[in-house]
Amino acid sequence: MQSEDCQDWFNRKLAEFGDPGNGGISRTLSLDAAVQAVTLNKYSVNLTAAQMGVSQADRDEIANNYDSHHTSLNVANAVTNSGRTWLMPEAFWNNSLIPYNDRDLTGIIVHELFHVAGYGKAWESRIKSLSKEIQNNCSHAKGII
Ligand SMILES: [Zn+2]
Repeated sequence: MQSEDCQDWFNRKLAEFGDPGNGGISRTLSLDAAVQAVTLNKYSVNLTAAQMGVSQADRDEIANNYDSHHTSLNVANAVTNSGRTWLMPEAFWNNSLIPYNDRDLTGIIVHELFHVAGYGKAWESRIKSLSKEIQNNCSHAKGII
């Protein structure tokens, strides 16, 4: 992820994306800046809003979207809220007996760093479409992002 290839590619994508259109919320302009800005945490259904440092409304939304969806293949592997990224338990699935369940943890983090960089939900499909490029430039791994 810290390779020059990954940084160049990520920074180029941010430049291509341009203004996130999120009403002036500041954005980061480089992978380095996003890495500096993010706090990575492991998600647990038992965490409270206070423990997560998010509003109760955001906590409820995260619970609705992620709790009890852990085993679904198409569920997001992480959620980012105000610069904090919560990695879902399945983001750590690797070397499983069912290889198609394996996740690309580095790739998942790079995906979330686009959100940290200022690109919110409106950008999800565009960021999602970069999964192959993330793997070619950054994680050099297979697995689900
Ligand atoms: Zn996303």
